[in-house]
Amino acid sequence: MKSNLLALIFFISGFLFAQQIDVVDFKRAAVSVSFQPEMKKVLGEVDYSLEILKSTDSIFLDAVSMEFSQVMLNGNLVDFRNDSKRLWIKHKFKKGKTYDLSFKYKAQPKKALYFIDWEYPEGNKQIWTQGQGKYTSNWLPSIDDMNDKIEFDLSIIFNKNYEVIANGKLIEKQISHSTMTWHYDMQKPMASYLVALVIGKYDKQIEYSERGVHLEMYYYPKDSLKFEPTYRYTKQMFDFLEGEIGVPYPWQNYKQIPVKDFLYAGMENTSATIFSDAFVVNDTAFVDKNYVNVNAHELAHQWFGDLVTETSGTHHWLQEGFATYYALLAERDVFGDNYYYWRLYEYLQELDVQDKSGGSTALLNPKSSSTTFYKKGAWVLHLLREQVGDEAFREAVKHYLNKNAFKNVQTEDFIREVEQASKQDLSKFVKLWLENKDLNYNLMLESLKQSVFIQEYLMVDCELYTSKCKEYLNSWISDEAMAKVIEQIPNQITSDNFKSPIKVRQAIATSISTIPERLKQDYESLLQDESYVTIEVALMNLWRNFPQTRNNYLNQIKGIVGFHDKNVRMLWLTLAIITENFEPENKSEYFKELIDYTSPKYSFDIRQNAFMYLKQIQACNEQCKDNLKQGTKHHNWQFSKFSKSMLEAINSN
Ligand SMILES: [Zn+2]
Repeated sequence: MKSNLLALIFFISGFLFAQQIDVVDFKRAAVSVSFQPEMKKVLGEVDYSLEILKSTDSIFLDAVSMEFSQVMLNGNLVDFRNDSKRLWIKHKFKKGKTYDLSFKYKAQPKKALYFIDWEYPEGNKQIWTQGQGKYTSNWLPSIDDMNDKIEFDLSIIFNKNYEVIANGKLIEKQISHSTMTWHYDMQKPMASYLVALVIGKYDKQIEYSERGVHLEMYYYPKDSLKFEPTYRYTKQMFDFLEGEIGVPYPWQNYKQIPVKDFLYAGMENTSATIFSDAFVVNDTAFVDKNYVNVNAHELAHQWFGDLVTETSGTHHWLQEGFATYYALLAERDVFGDNYYYWRLYEYLQELDVQDKSGGSTALLNPKSSSTTFYKKGAWVLHLLREQVGDEAFREAVKHYLNKNAFKNVQTEDFIREVEQASKQDLSKFVKLWLENKDLNYNLMLESLKQSVFIQEYLMVDCELYTSKCKEYLNSWISDEAMAKVIEQIPNQITSDNFKSPIKVRQAIATSISTIPERLKQDYESLLQDESYVTIEVALMNLWRNFPQTRNNYLNQIKGIVGFHDKNVRMLWLTLAIITENFEPENKSEYFKELIDYTSPKYSFDIRQNAFMYLKQIQACNEQCKDNLKQGTKHHNWQFSKFSKSMLEAINSN
């Protein structure tokens, strides 16, 4: 997953339920589910095959608040107990024997499966799942402990006008009247948290990897023009990672599906990555915000996380550190070495900020922050590879994956392979980088200095070398270094500096808030840049600085929407409403549009923007407040938290 919090939950679960793993091995689940979206209900039938490892008189499945019927063992009704957390099966189970456990169930999941927009006629109706951190056992009786891997074959019955996507390969579609049954087949086992399905209105395009793996990329029918920028570099990164990792992609195909109001950036469900539709972008948005990194990250998880899975949260870096590191390698293949070192530099700055606030922890501490698991994890792999060399590193990774395929892993499993491949004793490395909580900033910075690009960036610094500063503004240095100089001495910018690439111009846009008259024309040219960040900032600053020409700016930007969250349109509407002489006849219409964006039929990032602007101009009316109240119950905790504090702020005014 790519997100900000989790880990702890895994640690606890891996611990408590460790015993059942020694008693029973659930091998395969044939699952058939249908839905009542208006009621937010799941109806299912499951058939588990299991093997008893130790004789016992009861076994359980995790199952939150479900109703069961027809619970059968080997075809006969069996004694069961449902304590609303687990389904307990009572029977004299014999060691070495295999059993068939089947049942029907009903659930109204509070989390892990989400019904989106079914109450709104104009909404983008979807059903999708999120197992990691939420537990699949909220909608499907399964095993919360990620150490029991099961082959899940899902059949889903739904309205035939929708697209239904799940783990594995679609082997059959059966139509009966208005419904269709989609049969998906997995050949290999996975942890329950990786079970996934998506239902919605989608088109798809398929590409084939070098080895012939189907790469299925889904998109909303209205987004056909965004398809290419959204999925840019997918095949290149897939082929790169397969070659770099040295182990063939382990699943039958690879699907990627954007969904509305997702909880994280993306989630690496086995062979079926779900990601936030905020990453569905056009060419202009791609410049500032794109799916490339998340795409590579979730893909890397298909090996690191899905093929080999941590035994507990102590080893969470084996998933997130690896996914972050391999995503960087894939991006290095696309964007080059400078990009790679630049991102490592940025990660280091983030780790440094955390360190200075006292937040550093050991990588093997299960309570570490995601900054530590993801960014320090990636850094440690970068440093380890430096120490042992490319060849030994790659050989070790290959052995590690092959030996532990479809099983669970601990840090020792990986380190042992690196020691064998490199013939080095890594105990000092492990102590320093995995067990010790210190950041070791200087050692990390040293490693970055092998990059001339980073050397230059560090050298070009107006705070350290004041005398040379003006020279830098007129020299050939990297865009990143130039952006730094501009941020440090914005008042020394000249017309010449505007003749720069788009990212430097963006730094100019964001660094100058008081625009000198001599730069007015140059600054106005920023409104034409192919960057929604630049346009938004430039419009705001120009509007503030030059009241006489406000109407010109508004006319120029009219019709530009911006990112998924409509950043440019929202600002434009707000300014159009409050600019006195601008289109007085249309003001009420613009206000209506801004209010409309607070409604639940829009994604929460759009709503959030609308709420903020309406609050700023003190225009959140009854309709807006109703929508805000509704937002406090949203399934995305960040948005519900935002809505609560916004509602408080508005009510206290
Ligand atoms: Zn991840």
